[in-house]
Amino acid sequence: MTEADVGIVGGGPAGIAAAIQLARAGHQVTLFERNRLGGLLWNANLVENYPGFPGGIRGPQLVRRMVEQLRSHDLLLLHRAVVAMREQDGGLLLETESGGWKCETVILATGTRAVRIRLPGLEEPSPAYVHTDVVELLAERTRAIAVIGAGDAAFDYALNLARANTVTINNRGTRVRCLPLLWERAEQHPRIRYRERTTLVRATAGERHLRLSWRNQLREWTETADRLVLAVGRQPDNALLAGFSDARLAELERAGRLYRIGDLANGSFRQTSLSVADGVRAAMDIHARAERNSRCK
Ligand SMILES: Cc1cc2nc3c(=O)[nH]c(=O)nc-3n(C[C@H](O)[C@H](O)[C@H](O)COP(=O)(O)OP(=O)(O)OC[C@H]3O[C@@H](n4cnc5c(N)ncnc54)[C@H](O)[C@@H]3O)c2cc1C
Repeated sequence: MTEADVGIVGGGPAGIAAAIQLARAGHQVTLFERNRLGGLLWNANLVENYPGFPGGIRGPQLVRRMVEQLRSHDLLLLHRAVVAMREQDGGLLLETESGGWKCETVILATGTRAVRIRLPGLEEPSPAYVHTDVVELLAERTRAIAVIGAGDAAFDYALNLARANTVTINNRGTRVRCLPLLWERAEQHPRIRYRERTTLVRATAGERHLRLSWRNQLREWTETADRLVLAVGRQPDNALLAGFSDARLAELERAGRLYRIGDLANGSFRQTSLSVADGVRAAMDIHARAERNSRCK
């Protein structure tokens, strides 16, 4: 078992911001990321609401800048999944496949997980064809891609993928829940088609394509798609909280031993700037408590 002052789980914008702020203040930080540093932000087509980038910045470009800044600080970065968290000897133990890390304080910045829906006809959706985000698809060219959903993510994914592919957005209802400017851009885009009252009735995976059967109020038809992207919502990734009661979580948070930050904790207010702000705030709180404790000793 290894010991750390502060363990941060999740290397998206929230975890990165917390790590930078803590490292600047001289804390010993270990940051765990199971996948890609930058988290969900890799998927953002054009971030236009993060101050400092007039005209906006593409998600991957913003991630690269954040990661470069992170790497310029003295901290331990582990490309590992934390598979469980539990209390041990007055600390919190973060367990990974290759050992445990006992931390005085843990920041959970695990973000959200995509909601999955059952796809009629596909018992086990092949990850090669069915996606819940677009980061793996950004290099695709001249593909036919079907998106299911009608919110910001569905439209943002479509605009991103339509840079080099043709995209249909399929809404099973008639209500569109995205920013008007995303709707307008999609509506005007020559390679995006929006269809409403369109429900997937069957999907079949072939050797190289998917066969998708759709239904609207008038007819049923089948077409081929290279990829299917599900954008039907996200929920907080609370997996590491299993085993903790709400009351115990509240106690740990009051004592400054556990912080939940970013998209994990922000309900529908899921924005990069808010995640970054949460990370900085948690780090400042940890630092202020450490200062108070050292004065009391
Ligand atoms: C299509 C799209 C467009 C967007 N556009 C914008 C925009 O224009 N402006 C804006 O402000 N925001 C935008 N966002 C939202 C923004 O991406 C998120 O608000 C932000 O990424 C949240 O940061 P986070 O660090 O809280 O969580 P995440 O970015 O989700 O990061 C969480 C990280 O934790 C890791 N993790 C989870 N569990 C574990 C574990 N057990 N062990 C180790 N690592 C773990 C994950 O792999 C992930 O890297 C967009 C999002 C999407 C999907």
